[in-house]
Amino acid sequence: MEERLQRLIRDIPKAENHVHLEGAVKPELILRFAERNNVQLPFSDEEGAKKYIVDNTQSLDTFINVFNVVNSVLRTEIDFYELVMEFAKDAQKENIIYREAMFNYAVHATKAISLETIMKGLSEARVDALKEYGVDICYIAELDRSKNSEWTCDFIREISRYKETAPVVAVGWALGLEGAEDKNYKAKEFGEAFALATELGLRKTAHCGEAQGPESVWEVLEHLDIDRIDHGVRASEDEELVKVLAEKDILLAVCPSTNIMINLYPDFAHHPLKYFKDSGVAVSVSTDDPGFILDDLTNEYMKVVDALDFTETDVIDLIKNSFKYSFIGTDYLASVDEWLDENGYA
Ligand SMILES: [Zn+2]
Repeated sequence: MEERLQRLIRDIPKAENHVHLEGAVKPELILRFAERNNVQLPFSDEEGAKKYIVDNTQSLDTFINVFNVVNSVLRTEIDFYELVMEFAKDAQKENIIYREAMFNYAVHATKAISLETIMKGLSEARVDALKEYGVDICYIAELDRSKNSEWTCDFIREISRYKETAPVVAVGWALGLEGAEDKNYKAKEFGEAFALATELGLRKTAHCGEAQGPESVWEVLEHLDIDRIDHGVRASEDEELVKVLAEKDILLAVCPSTNIMINLYPDFAHHPLKYFKDSGVAVSVSTDDPGFILDDLTNEYMKVVDALDFTETDVIDLIKNSFKYSFIGTDYLASVDEWLDENGYA
């Protein structure tokens, strides 16, 4: 790849739309939190942690086991605070200025951790992250698929109290505690919950079209009032669906590395990201779970460019999309344009 393109990817102000806080706990942090909270782990050092993660993330179902092990170490307000501060520090290193971080309260509720404990850690860290690292973090509260509509509606009412303070800007239909995109989890059962989120002024996204095929994306479009889709990559198997996504201007927050990690595609060259872009579907690139892919957003872009022949203009489009379709508005787009101008890329 030419130096000019590498420099663009490395230095331009970036944003990330699809990243899970629990999937961002690096081995070093897992060990630190486990020791502090007296949690037993199936490994005892960083190398062991990395091997455990690599060995157990080859399918979406075993991936859930790793997710749960990592989650078992997160216990106190200070853990959540430190996790977000590390998350911001990492972001600063690669010029990510805005990050939308998802968190799954249902997972932490099984450890009897209160929502207030988590939210205190998250909102304090948010303020300090902005001050210390210049990284703006907003939160997306995940709606666990294995919960019923009543639980989900109660949770949305409760989480909407943190709309201004945390800030929780959106809700996202995501992983289920008892499995991934299990066929038993139906989007239509969450229609009421999504309508409530709309009423309470929260933005909305949903994971679909990853482990399950295009039908899961159709189902989400039919039953859930969404602004964006997380993954959605298997929509590429249905031409009509691709057209609808382009027409409705729904962003797919795509994470090639985790798709490849769970064996959805053999490598970057077979990933449909370019196909979506060429078909007029809005796409952005994210890491999903940097702690599991053991890599960062900059490298994700580098791999996309190498394998899919993305040009300088394509990369700029992807980066602008991550700001343009963000849940806090488009204010940061001006700093991207300014950077492009100042660095001779406009
Ligand atoms: Zn995800």
